Amino acid sequence: MRSLRTKMVMILVLLILALMTVVGAFLINGVGNYYIDDFYVQMEQTFSQKFITQLQELAASESGSATKLKELLMAQSDLGVDLDQRNVYILDTDGRVLDSSNQETDVVLTANILTAMNGEVGQSGSITADMMDLAVPIDGGETDYIIYVLDNKLTVDELTGELFSIIIQSLALGLVICVVLAFLLSQILITPITALTAGTRQVAAGELSQKLEVTSRDEIGILTRNFNHMAQVLKNTISQVENERTKLSTLFLHMTDGVVAFDSTGAVIHCNPAATRLLSKNLDVTANFSEVFGADADFNKLLTLKRAEYLECQKRVGERELELFMAPFSSDQTVGGAMVVIHDVTMQRKSEQTRREFVANVSHELRTPLTNVRSYAETILSAGDDLPKELRENFLGVIVSEADRMTRIVKDLLTLTKFDYGKMEMNISRFALREAVENVYKAVALDAQNHKHTLTLECPEDLPSVDGDRERLEQVIMNIVSNAIKYTADGGKIEIVAGTRGKNVFIRVSDNGIGIPEKDLPRLFERFYRVDKARSRESGGTGLGLSIAREILSQHKGDIRIESVYGEGTDVTITLPRAE
Ligand code: ADP
Repeated sequence: MRSLRTKMVMILVLLILALMTVVGAFLINGVGNYYIDDFYVQMEQTFSQKFITQLQELAASESGSATKLKELLMAQSDLGVDLDQRNVYILDTDGRVLDSSNQETDVVLTANILTAMNGEVGQSGSITADMMDLAVPIDGGETDYIIYVLDNKLTVDELTGELFSIIIQSLALGLVICVVLAFLLSQILITPITALTAGTRQVAAGELSQKLEVTSRDEIGILTRNFNHMAQVLKNTISQVENERTKLSTLFLHMTDGVVAFDSTGAVIHCNPAATRLLSKNLDVTANFSEVFGADADFNKLLTLKRAEYLECQKRVGERELELFMAPFSSDQTVGGAMVVIHDVTMQRKSEQTRREFVANVSHELRTPLTNVRSYAETILSAGDDLPKELRENFLGVIVSEADRMTRIVKDLLTLTKFDYGKMEMNISRFALREAVENVYKAVALDAQNHKHTLTLECPEDLPSVDGDRERLEQVIMNIVSNAIKYTADGGKIEIVAGTRGKNVFIRVSDNGIGIPEKDLPRLFERFYRVDKARSRESGGTGLGLSIAREILSQHKGDIRIESVYGEGTDVTITLPRAE
């Protein structure tokens, strides 16, 4: 690679060479032409018509001879005969030398001599010829002569030689000067360029915050300024891209939907933690599409989809129901790969299922009493007065009790709906839990007695107060104790125990009744769930009591737990935070 400095030196050297060659050529040519012109002007002045006539007269006279003519000519100082360079020859018309100033006996027949032989003055000269000459025909009557002046151009050659050597010397000097100048000049140009080069190297290495000093206002100054601007723009763009990248990766990291990206060969290039969790699979770069979603979609077909088109499919992983959305993404107009977004719809499906079951349960729960009401009413109607009064009253009693049951169901459902929509208003106050428990105890005592149960209450005097809706909490305790009475065979033993446990107060209702099978325990809080539907209904239960109890307790940051041994008895414990 040739450096800028070498290039500049070469350019300047070539420039000076070209300049000197042209100048030298013009100079040498000019000097040559000047001397030739000067020679012919001199000759013209010498060989005036008058002088030619004089020569002709001398040639025609009796004493006329070549020697006489020569002497006359040599006497002409204007002719400049000096024997060294310029000589005069007297020729006959055949070009033979009759006499000459330098005693030469021979001349070359030049074009000018030939012209003179034809009777005309030969006076053409050329810069390239190595001599200058003039041939003048002299009509001497009987003997004609040709006067031939020959200059060997020694002066011209010496001068041009001298000139040539001056040119060569000045060329050498010019070259030295131009090399020095080129170095100095290149120094001025190269220093900022070197700084710029170092700057670009730093930018390429990622150091975008460095700024180059602008030292001039010329093109290099502008270039340096533009470079600084470019580095700044680049820095901003990179930080924006980095920002976007961080935003996206944070989004991917924390989003609940899984995202897996594949390249055009189907290899995994990106996968977020949610995808790993939902697919229960560790997806690294060695995993590919067919391994993960091969059974759900065709990767090649997926890649052929147009923008905004996508594939949607379902997948089951263990207990999880997944919805997959697949779409290709492209870079540079070529297909770059495909993305799969995984949406967990397990809860959605479950809640849809629960909702369906709930609607079915509500319809069922209401249909039974309605059927009863209708059939008893029909019987009363169709039998008319034939129906004995006692039976009629009995039937009407059933109708009323079924209507009451429906009212209870609707009331409980409304309570639950209010909880669901967060519209249940709580009448919060601080009250003595002991009083509430005793109230419930008193209220159910008669009912317990009717069933011949032994009902006991164990409540410390200093049972802490709680902050809450007294009426609703009493309703919860009442429901639990009522359940214990309902689901215990007559003559059973029911204990209500209240106490303090850390920051909480608890109330435990234990019975030695029918108990609950282990498999039913987790489902007791589901709406309308009952272990023994017939028994529950018979005793006026709606199957919503425990659901409502749990909702109320959760509003009070409390808890409810049921432990039971089937056939032996049940313990239901509620806990509530004690008032501060
Ligand atoms: P229900 O109105 O049917 O009593 P609950 O929601 O109060 O509705 O109770 C749900 C079911 O839990 C009851 O149907 C019953 O099968 C069971 N259960 C509740 N308490 C007891 C208990 N103390 N002993 C046995 N089973 C119980």
